[in-house]
Amino acid sequence: MFDLDNSYFRELEGLYQPWRGDAVPAPRVLLFNHRLAGSLGLPDGLDSPEGARFLCGMEIAEGCTPLAQAYAGHQFGGFSPQLGDGRALLLGELLDEKGHRWDLHLKGSGATPFSRGGDGKAALGPMVREFVISEAMHALGIPTTRSLAVITTGEQVQRQEGAQPGAVLARVAASHLRVGTFQYAAVHHGPEGVRRLADYAIGRHDPDLAGREDRYLALLERVIERQAGLVASWMAVGFVHGVMNTDNMTLSGETIDYGPCAFVDAWDPATVFSSIDHQGRYALGNQPKILQWNLARFAETLLPLLHDEEEHALRLATERIEAVPELYRAAWLERIRRKLGLGDARETDAALIEDLFGLLSRQQADLTLAFRHLAAAAEGKPDAFLGLFEAPEAAREWLDRWHARLAQTDTPPGQRGAVLRRVNPLYIPRNHKVEEALGALVEMGDPLPLEKLLEAVTDPFSERPGLEAFSRPAPPEFAEEYCTFCGT
Ligand code: AMP
Ligand code: MG
Repeated sequence: MFDLDNSYFRELEGLYQPWRGDAVPAPRVLLFNHRLAGSLGLPDGLDSPEGARFLCGMEIAEGCTPLAQAYAGHQFGGFSPQLGDGRALLLGELLDEKGHRWDLHLKGSGATPFSRGGDGKAALGPMVREFVISEAMHALGIPTTRSLAVITTGEQVQRQEGAQPGAVLARVAASHLRVGTFQYAAVHHGPEGVRRLADYAIGRHDPDLAGREDRYLALLERVIERQAGLVASWMAVGFVHGVMNTDNMTLSGETIDYGPCAFVDAWDPATVFSSIDHQGRYALGNQPKILQWNLARFAETLLPLLHDEEEHALRLATERIEAVPELYRAAWLERIRRKLGLGDARETDAALIEDLFGLLSRQQADLTLAFRHLAAAAEGKPDAFLGLFEAPEAAREWLDRWHARLAQTDTPPGQRGAVLRRVNPLYIPRNHKVEEALGALVEMGDPLPLEKLLEAVTDPFSERPGLEAFSRPAPPEFAEEYCTFCGT
């Protein structure tokens, strides 16, 4: 059914265990991403009962060598030398029409040698949640693993909140190489193991570096650039990943492992959704700092490859890591400048941007709507924007400064609104709507709210009638209580 390659299997022995999925009683494709399947050139019929057996890992195509990847990782700051795919499988790699290589990966396919006492399973709600949020991220233009399908297994899995229907998520990624994969190679296979992995990573993500003598330093720079860009994109839409452990940060710069993640309504840097993040380590406003911390852990694994002299290697890495905050800030400013329609950079932009975030934060205005309503404000209708602020005077002053700055851009006034609507989404996966859709599906077997939610968030920039409810923030009583769970 599949034609899958397996370069990870061939080239990275010692970084995986060959494995297969559990047989499950009644596999059935519940959600299928036809558009993604089409863009990957996948065969028809994957959403059939037979396809479901492949997509949950219980039936293996000929020549296929599924495996559980080994990785280590810092979890909430503490190092675990042995994590790995405890409930996941890399089925193999797809080559699309353009020759790009994509991992086809399953989550919830059963226990593996890396399960550490976990059941290896996934519950339906969290897998559908990952499907929705990852596809919303993609539609927002943010690098992410993609969701191909959710398969219900016919099993029940035991979770804190009681027995839940079991499911498998089939997802697609540029790779599943993580900072934690490098940490694993460093601990278990030493510098030569890291070199083999780094060469593989370069082959996959940065083939233009392959012949260069300084390729490992260049790889570090590329990963810094991609991850800084990623976190800047998260911050520009108010996305809290929630579990930025080093095993959840990719070399490709794709968002991975949607667990306790969520979008904020109001801009509050202290926002934490995860029920297990007691210290707020992964709070919204901490994400840029954690980015740097994680990149430092990545750089450490590369040290022996950077230079023969230890001190020199350390200096090279330290310089790169110390530059992360500045790189991050530049990436963030660039994204916000685009959201404000500012065109070429001006020196005063940073102050204009910071003052806006100060206002949003002080007045707890809705982040998504504030940016969205700028389009109307640019067309001479500022009321919706001003209406988001309890004390609109300060917001009005800010708008005046923004208008003056817009006048310096090349965008003709008549086009400004349209330009802004193309970069500022109206529909994000609002937490209360996500919970409502998951509740209807899992508890009542009603897929309609989920279908409607997917319709909204997979096309987030163009306003459509009938989707008004998806543009509004949660009622305050919901927002105050909202908490996501890591026990997915
Ligand atoms: P995560 O927080 O989802 O990134 O997972 C951290 C680690 O726990 C990874 O090694 C996962 O494979 C593992 N893990 C999470 N859930 C389960 C489960 N239900 N059974 C086995 N391993 C799991
Ligand atoms: Mg993970």
